[in-house]
Amino acid sequence: MMPNVTGHTELVGLMAYPIRHTQSPTTHNLAYDKNGDDVIQLAFEVDNDSLKDAVQSIRALKMLGSNISMPNKTVVHKYLDEVDEAAKLCGAINTVVNMRDENGQVTGKLKGYNTDGMGYWQGLKEEGIDFKGMKMVLIGTGGAATAIAVRGALDGIAEIEIFNIKDKFYSRGEEIVDLINKNTNCKATMNDLADHDLLKEKMHAADLFCDATGVGMHPLEDLSNIPDTSFFKKDLIVTDTVYAPRETVMMKQAKEAGCEKVYNGMSMMLFQALIAIKLYTGKDTPVDYMKEKLG
Ligand code: NAD
Repeated sequence: MMPNVTGHTELVGLMAYPIRHTQSPTTHNLAYDKNGDDVIQLAFEVDNDSLKDAVQSIRALKMLGSNISMPNKTVVHKYLDEVDEAAKLCGAINTVVNMRDENGQVTGKLKGYNTDGMGYWQGLKEEGIDFKGMKMVLIGTGGAATAIAVRGALDGIAEIEIFNIKDKFYSRGEEIVDLINKNTNCKATMNDLADHDLLKEKMHAADLFCDATGVGMHPLEDLSNIPDTSFFKKDLIVTDTVYAPRETVMMKQAKEAGCEKVYNGMSMMLFQALIAIKLYTGKDTPVDYMKEKLG
């Protein structure tokens, strides 16, 4: 499809390195086209060294904003005017919006958001799941897990039991738990993933389970963090942030245990993009259309 680029076309960026493998412009440009917006997204190879100038170019070129990916998510806040509460707690930003004035013109005032966490929870809402007051078990303390935990805690999850292996991410988990307990009404606890008895006990007491680690995707596609099917109870809502493969070993275990609500990371990926698009243009994108086109 040839985009109809004119002198009026407005630009959304994507700043990351490496970035040439990204699917983001496909998703964004499909949505802008469907919504009738004269906007395109382009990917730019930007690392920490060129980030300050690249962010300044959002102002100089009157861009609508830019998506931000690694290695810039935890650094970009330094160059912005404002940061959304959840993004501040996560310590990571994936969307920079050039704020508009009352006439809809971009102002050069840049605000950072984290739509990864919003995307995960929006995906559950779209499945008709009301997660307020739920107890959650979350495996992982990296970027995806942090965004999910923080947004969930702000949006009404009652308890989060976080588990992680004792690697370099474990202390980050302790910090997140502390931040959540100090800043939200959610009660968060950090646990060692090696404690399988505790994991099983907490999974049996939970309403919602999420694996937000790289386990289940290449090169760990043959592995699961869950030792066997007895860890799952039938009414547990089971989610994985992995979207390639579409069904992880963990998801297969959950289905074998009789769980009926089992979801991969596709909806998180789609909704983090659609929420960013709404922040840039103010428009809702038809979800079914996007699902059909993106497969
Ligand atoms: P990250 O590198 O920030 O964090 C990795 C996490 O995985 C850490 O908690 C780490 O301790 C854990 N981990 C790594 N190896 C492990 C192992 N062998 N056993 C147990 N735990 C292990 O990565 P991230 O950006 O948070 O991504 C995590 C997962 O989420 C990936 O699978 C990624 O594809 C997925 N993700 C999905 C979306 C989406 O939109 N669906 C968005 C972001 C990330």
